Formats: sequence, structure tokens, C-alpha cells
Amino acid sequence: MEAGFNKLQDFISNSRNIVFFGGAGVSTESGIPDFRSVDGLYNQSYKYPPETILSHQFFMKKTLDFFNFYRNKMLFLNAKPNKAHEKLAELESLGKLKAVITQNIDGLHQMAGSKNVLELHGSVLRNYCIKCHTFYDVTAVINGEPIPKCTCSGIIKPDVVLYGESLDSNTINQSVNAIANADVLIIGGTSLGVYPAAGLIDYYKGNKLVLINKTSTPMDTRANLVINDSIGEVLGKIEL
Ligand code: ZN
Repeated sequence: MEAGFNKLQDFISNSRNIVFFGGAGVSTESGIPDFRSVDGLYNQSYKYPPETILSHQFFMKKTLDFFNFYRNKMLFLNAKPNKAHEKLAELESLGKLKAVITQNIDGLHQMAGSKNVLELHGSVLRNYCIKCHTFYDVTAVINGEPIPKCTCSGIIKPDVVLYGESLDSNTINQSVNAIANADVLIIGGTSLGVYPAAGLIDYYKGNKLVLINKTSTPMDTRANLVINDSIGEVLGKIEL
């Protein structure tokens, strides 16, 4: 483990073009549960499974049930950035890190100070009227019980990618570009089982692919360095 960490420190110290790709594990260390993990939301008893509730079809047909679940299980507005978020923001401010690509929707990277954050699945902090496209912050969803409505009477929808919806093509393109041009690619807190993570990594052309995850992943054999540990603990120890 020590040799692995030293290699990571070396990669980071000697690069000015680092890209970070993060999954749910980055947020779980801030106390936000991963709804895909076995001890996460899928194990909790609800009338419908979360992947059904968090779908476009469900949002349209059972809007009230959607918002009841969403307010209770998807909003963690008291969560704070952890050492991973903080170190990544520092690396960017030093000009060493070019982009954070995240599958998380909590806005914690921006809260930590990161600027170029590519949110593949959107953000709970942005919401918009599906009729007139006026934007609202998250308080409109919290205070708009039972179903948040725009002044035009349209429903206010969270700007998060639901199952059955496509990812924003502009965000995808920027992510592909960042990865294709990266010198060091650090992937953290994801088992890489979920689209589009696996596909995006194919664009990386370098030889400093680092995987930091508590458990092994299907991509381990492709990585130049694998560290099975907490992403916050590992990045937190990096010296700048
Ligand atoms: Zn409206």
C-alpha cells in the first residue's frame, strides 16, 4: 500500500494535467448513501424500488410519489465536502487538475471550491420548470410541497438525469475531451459497473490510470495503479 501511495504522490507531483473521475464512493464518505449499494437505499422498504421511482416515466405518472421519495431520500443538504473534495479543489487551484467528472448530484465538489465540474447526472441544486424552463434552487423543491410548481403553474423538475433520460451531450463531450487529453486519470469511489463510466475511460490514452476504491473493480487489470482504500484518506494524504 505504501509503495502504491508513493507512486500516486509521484504521478500527482509531476503532472499539470490531472483529471478526476468520481463515483458514489466520493459522496458516501460525506455521509450520502449510495442508492446502488446493497446496504443503501435498495435495501430499504418502499412501495417501489428506487430505480423505478427515479425514472422519467414514474416522474411523469406518479409525480407526487416521486417527490415524497426524492425529498426524503435524495436530498442531503447538510452534507459537507470531505478530504477528497478538498484536495481536488486545491489541485485545480494550483493549475494541476483540469476537470472533475462526477456521477454524483450533490454539488459537494463546487462547495469545496472546484470550478470545472462535469456533472454527468446533473445536480439536485438546480431545478427548472418543465413548461417555461425558469430555473429554481433547491429551496423551491423543499418548500414546494406536495408538488413544486412554477409561477406559470408548470411542475418544477430537478435537473438530475432520471432512468430513461439521456445524459447531456455537452457534458459528455467535455468529459471525453478532458479524459482524452489527460496525463493522469484518477478514478475514485466507483466500481465502474455503471454506464457511462466504463465507456468514458476508453478515451484515456496515457499510462497513468489510477483506480482508488475500497474494493476491487472489473477495471483493475487495465489500471497502472490500484489502491484499495478510502478515497478521502488517500487523497487527503497527498502533499502539494
Ligand atoms: Zn414555469
